[in-house]
Amino acid sequence: MKNVVINETGKASEFKPDVIFEKYLKLAEKDVRDEFSQKRNLALSNCPACRSKKKRIVFSHFGFEYAECLACDSVYMNPRPLDAKIKKHYLESASASFWRNTLSKKTEGKRKEKIYEKRFQWFSDIAQNHLPCATTIADFNSKDPEYTKEFLQNGYFKRKIVINPYFNILALDKFNVDASSYPVIEELADSLEDRGMVDVACAFEAIDCFADVELLLKTINALLCKGGLCFVTTISISGFDLQVLWGNSTSIFPPDRINVFSRKGLELLFKRHGFDIIEYSTPGFLDLDIVKNALKKDSSIELPRFVRTILKNGDDQVYQDFQEFLQLSKLSSFVRIVLKKK
Ligand SMILES: [Zn+2]
Repeated sequence: MKNVVINETGKASEFKPDVIFEKYLKLAEKDVRDEFSQKRNLALSNCPACRSKKKRIVFSHFGFEYAECLACDSVYMNPRPLDAKIKKHYLESASASFWRNTLSKKTEGKRKEKIYEKRFQWFSDIAQNHLPCATTIADFNSKDPEYTKEFLQNGYFKRKIVINPYFNILALDKFNVDASSYPVIEELADSLEDRGMVDVACAFEAIDCFADVELLLKTINALLCKGGLCFVTTISISGFDLQVLWGNSTSIFPPDRINVFSRKGLELLFKRHGFDIIEYSTPGFLDLDIVKNALKKDSSIELPRFVRTILKNGDDQVYQDFQEFLQLSKLSSFVRIVLKKK
């Protein structure tokens, strides 16, 4: 299994500027409390990774409980909203609109340079090696019009399909992208006409905020041709900053992160859905910076003494070496995975 280490440095605030991100969190909390507080809008779940019922409650965010699976260590919101409600949140809520129109826009340059372009290079390189005749690519559950614009405009694949977008696809018109010239499938269930016709699927940060992960992965598997590839990014609870910050992490909250899978959970999940994992990398470069920022905002957070010492005494070189160690050991919280349909 491939493990890619990326020599990259950066600051968490380049992607989530403090003041703007805090405003986003406040808006999201208000929306989510309004939208999901009624019990009839929530459903109990077993572990979405390994299906185990054994769990313990570990923390709450925005007043909603998260459980840790005692079998695979994944962490997940339980009970949780249904996917129709989550989609409605992304389409209509004030916080989702703020994310698209303010947070995403302010960080557009950095996102393009350090996230989108690297994604395109990544899936074009891997596809050339593993599936050189690939012509059709499908993108699942994008929440980000800026990314989808870049996706539709890049020239790597002949046919592109957008499936189950979590934003109003007509908004792309304002980017001078004629969305009507691309196939857009509004619901997962309607995508099966393309069964077996897709060479490459992308699910970036999609398994994080999808309640019925079984349905998402079954659909991706059904659409892919034999040997088809699926590219996934997510954050993992096995990663450094989430292990250290745990319930104090500002990365875990509904509905953006209702599933925070462990490495073991991810491996079990993809194996159960008929995929081989050909790459599992954690090319994150922000873990230590995220912990440092959390401590700066709240000095009462309990951290292991060793971590406090690194943060206090470490220089840039120590930070960089430590982050490289995390990547080599697959212990950063940012995960990218390539799956191959058996
Ligand atoms: Zn589990």
